[in-house]
Amino acid sequence: MTSLKERVEARLREDVCKACVFRTATGECSLEGVRDCPILTRVDTIIEIVRGIDSPDVAPYAQALREAVCANCEHQHPDGTCRLRDRLDCALDDYFTWIVNIVDEELAATE
Ligand code: SF4
Ligand code: SF4
Repeated sequence: MTSLKERVEARLREDVCKACVFRTATGECSLEGVRDCPILTRVDTIIEIVRGIDSPDVAPYAQALREAVCANCEHQHPDGTCRLRDRLDCALDDYFTWIVNIVDEELAATE
């Protein structure tokens, strides 16, 4: 039986990667060798964020993302800004609402 993390990761690769702006025409990730994927390197933390919140509004999830991920991310400046986020160059931020929905669905399937 596959674990929750394995199922979430498979969905992220299947759904989000396929639509991601960093995906090349030949199906590779253009970030490879440049920087880590901000989503696939943080699956555990993303699951914990979604597990800890139950809201129809994305704002509390986004707030938790800032606190649990962005605050510890090398790309965030001390003043809380992030150039990648501002340029829509962080796939985790770009697709966050979709990612929350995927994790929510997989958590519901677990219960
Ligand atoms: S940045 Fe992450 S989500 Fe986007 S294609 Fe690369 S591995 Fe997939
Ligand atoms: S939005 Fe910026 S600080 Fe937050 S995870 Fe993405 S790159 Fe890191």
